[in-house]
Amino acid sequence: MATGPKSESLFERGRKVLVEGVSSASRGPAAFGSTPRYMSHGQGSRLFDVDGREYIDWMMAFGALPLGHAHPRVVETVSREVARGTHFATALEVEVEVAEMLVGLLPHVDKVRFANTGTEAAMGAFRLARGHTGRRKIIKFEGHYHGWWDSVLINTNPMPVSMLGHPNDPIRIPDSSGMTEDSWRDTIVVRWNDVTALERAMAIHGREAACVVTEGVMSNMGVIPPKPGYLQRMQELCHEYGALFYLDETVTGFRLAAGGCAELYGLKPDIVTYGKALGGGLPMAMIGGREDIMSGLEWGKVLHFGTHNAGRLALHVTKVMLETMLEDDQAGFRRIKNLGKAMTDSIRRVAKQSNRHGIVCQGVNSMFQIFFTDKEEVADYRDFCGHVDRLKFRDFAVRLMDKGIYMNPSATLHSLSSIVHTEADIATTANAIAEVLEEMP
Ligand code: PLP
Repeated sequence: MATGPKSESLFERGRKVLVEGVSSASRGPAAFGSTPRYMSHGQGSRLFDVDGREYIDWMMAFGALPLGHAHPRVVETVSREVARGTHFATALEVEVEVAEMLVGLLPHVDKVRFANTGTEAAMGAFRLARGHTGRRKIIKFEGHYHGWWDSVLINTNPMPVSMLGHPNDPIRIPDSSGMTEDSWRDTIVVRWNDVTALERAMAIHGREAACVVTEGVMSNMGVIPPKPGYLQRMQELCHEYGALFYLDETVTGFRLAAGGCAELYGLKPDIVTYGKALGGGLPMAMIGGREDIMSGLEWGKVLHFGTHNAGRLALHVTKVMLETMLEDDQAGFRRIKNLGKAMTDSIRRVAKQSNRHGIVCQGVNSMFQIFFTDKEEVADYRDFCGHVDRLKFRDFAVRLMDKGIYMNPSATLHSLSSIVHTEADIATTANAIAEVLEEMP
């Protein structure tokens, strides 16, 4: 089944007036290889396209929807609050309430500052780290994405391994035209999940580093968990060299546990940033951290502005998302974790039964990704670059869409469970995967 006629016609119109017919390369032909499916609405775990087709949605707006689509509490909250005004750009009661909830939940966070997107929050966090330490360098990892800001938009895309340089000293590769060398001059790139590489980099750059920034679970090369003890060692090295330990929880925050990766792996980061799930589907992000660091933002010493910061509708939805996930002793987090694990197990089972393609399914709690690979494990960016067949994954994902299962066709991304997915969704998805694996060349 090809993309439906209404999507085809919208794409035809859209590409005349929108770049690639969409508003982000990851939603258009660059990701799908052809016409994207234009969605009309969502309900629970389902998305519906303009041609009336129904999909079980495992992308959940790149992780922004832990409550699924059109959750009744979100609908009620937005309907109630929109009638009282959309945005004031003033101080708000709900802003204080949500900040109190976050500080109460995250032991490493004394204060927060709200922004709108993960990219913006990261930009603020890097500036804050530099302001606080008086140091210039940023240490980041191969394959980690922290938004599309120039200083960190290097080595975020898969490349042929032959281009990556020696693992001890990766070649820095900008991921976009239009970036000047100056913008990433002070950014050092290190291989992830490799303690020796990090120790070496810290010995060379550690005393000049404002921060070491990491995704806790690598989430922009599928799903790659940290090796045992790796993040703890990173935290220790940061302390040793006086660099801030910056945990980017944009993907993992309110996804892996109530306290994010920091809780899951027993970490105490100096700075965190959150986005995606935080807003429960509305744009909401935050920078959080220790009092002495966060106070750097006071009176604009380290400047952070934004007309739409702390949007009231988004804050009300953030509040309802947190209340819903946390009630009944954090039942929401248990549920998304159990569903994610059940989906991961089912995928492994059908892949083993089919035994026609080399497949590995990796997951952490509610997050999972399928890799077409000759390896038994994808442990880092170089494994991904050298051993993951991204075109095969795209073919797989597009075939799944034809069977009513929506996973993003980009192998670098991942799938996620929400509290409204069901055991039946898992069974339907597993059956569709089994069929697709048989059909695929
Ligand atoms: N940090 C991480 C780890 C991300 O995965 C992303 C987006 O995917 C960002 C930051 C940027 O967030 P946003 O897309 O909201 O700007």
